[in-house]
Amino acid sequence: MHIAVLRRDRCHPKKCNHECQYYCPPVRSGTPTIEFPDAEGQPLITEKLCIGCGICVRRCPFGAITIVGIPDELEKEKVHQFSENSFRLYSLPVVQQGKVTAILGQNGMGKSTTLSILAGNTIPNFGNFREPPSKDDVVKRLSGTVMGQYFRDLYSGRKKVVLKSQYVDLIPRVVKGRIRDALSNADQSGRMDEVVSLMSMEGVLDKDIDKCSGGELQKLAISVALLKDADVYLMDEMSSYLDITERLRVARVVQELARDRTVLVVEHDLAIMDWMADAVHIVYGKPGAYGVITEQKSTNKAVNEFLSGYLREENVRIRESSIDFQERTLRRDVNAPVLVSWENVSKTLGDFTLRARSGSIRLTQVVGVLGRNGLGKTSFVKILAGIMQPDTGAVSSTVRVAYKPQYISVDYAGTVADLIGEALKERSADTFVNNEIMHPLQINELMDLEVEDLSGGELQRLSIAITLARDADLFLLDEPSAHLDSAMRMEAAKVIRRVMENNRKSALVVDHDVYFIDLISDSLMVFRGEGGRHGEAFGPMDMRSGMNMFLSDAGVTFRRDQQTKRPRINKPGSSLDRSQRESGEYYFS
Ligand code: SF4
Repeated sequence: MHIAVLRRDRCHPKKCNHECQYYCPPVRSGTPTIEFPDAEGQPLITEKLCIGCGICVRRCPFGAITIVGIPDELEKEKVHQFSENSFRLYSLPVVQQGKVTAILGQNGMGKSTTLSILAGNTIPNFGNFREPPSKDDVVKRLSGTVMGQYFRDLYSGRKKVVLKSQYVDLIPRVVKGRIRDALSNADQSGRMDEVVSLMSMEGVLDKDIDKCSGGELQKLAISVALLKDADVYLMDEMSSYLDITERLRVARVVQELARDRTVLVVEHDLAIMDWMADAVHIVYGKPGAYGVITEQKSTNKAVNEFLSGYLREENVRIRESSIDFQERTLRRDVNAPVLVSWENVSKTLGDFTLRARSGSIRLTQVVGVLGRNGLGKTSFVKILAGIMQPDTGAVSSTVRVAYKPQYISVDYAGTVADLIGEALKERSADTFVNNEIMHPLQINELMDLEVEDLSGGELQRLSIAITLARDADLFLLDEPSAHLDSAMRMEAAKVIRRVMENNRKSALVVDHDVYFIDLISDSLMVFRGEGGRHGEAFGPMDMRSGMNMFLSDAGVTFRRDQQTKRPRINKPGSSLDRSQRESGEYYFS
């Protein structure tokens, strides 16, 4: 069967000639496959009459139509559809007390809809959006299943659910005052002191919420959820803005919570999800059109299948090629010419001091940067970019730099196409830029959208694309994986590597996602110090030395998966963890 999805925000029937209807072959032979019920309104596509030729998709001047062929048997799994020609969700995850269950997959495939259904905010209609079922109908339809009992308890009020939103940066708009007050107001369980200690929030309790960093807002949102007295905790993207130490802390808290509660997480950091979750549902489909939630899989199997791009039981390919990790500690020609170097750099900003003794980045080298938040990584990037001047020391500044900041401004009135045209000029028509940067980062589908309407992930993709497309020698990318889903992170890693290898360029990439850093880096810089007080930059050094330095600070060991060579966090206290610690090999045995 074919499903037709109309992006209503992109469809402008007053600005086109109804090309979708005019060129539709069935319409031309008298079958009303596409109609305009309201003369001024948007089209209605009758899916039963559609032959799936895709002509309307190609003819629509605004790219508003998606036609997808899906197996007929999926129809009986349909859980929700908002309206005619809209997104639909197939199947639901199974959540159980005593387990951390995770959802893994691309954005735009129904994770938010799923969370909304599980929270009781959306009543699943099983596709019957014209006459939506009642809560009793939902319970009856699912009776005899684990989730039937879940919804019976939820709708009767016996089960309380807390949903931690992914949009933590919106908190200052709706919550005013100090962190202490927000936590105190949320405390239904009398566990404020315990949660503050678990989340290591002692030092920021008196901070005004509107002055909090992204990481502090994330920890506030998680703490507020933990303080609620609930049976089910739905945690949407907990690692955004957090460094790896904090990600591990949150993962431990969630594992502890799941001992006697039900926990579902949506997580894009694969290393953290792999370590934290007991079971995983992969979601696949087409962003904005449909999403299918698979049966539950073991975490290891789910991550391996996700990286391979092929779901065995479902017999579905979710990506054209696999994402491959490499087992090597020295990845680049260490004798390549030096592109940029620095010597005895220091910078004082208020109470904080940054030092970087000496180092260099060589031609075609990709240097990953790891370290806790508040140690001056962004300041160092700004010094290399020439945006900030050091107090002492010097940077050889003969190279042209392209810089993607950590926080991306949306202060631009115009479409994505306008912005790209202005930023890149004639380079926006370059074949390499289009084929190797814009296409894999899926920028073409954003072209007609207003920049101010883009989501965080879309803005990040656009910002990475524009930075990589610039004519520069050194590319400085500050937290490029933030707001991207796992699939897009892996794709962005490939793009960054390809640009550097094909064009013989160099990059310095600050990020907290170990998979991302492992995929792109030839060597590492590590930042050490005391957050907000002082930070010191070490390296660049080879991957093995850098990871050992960083992970010994973080107190965690990694091994490589036998099958895929991907990094995996060792269980604390396991024999592998102990033997790696003893030998000082925190990264791979
Ligand atoms: Fe008509 Fe082809 Fe579009 Fe279906 S895919 S609505 S048949 S033009």
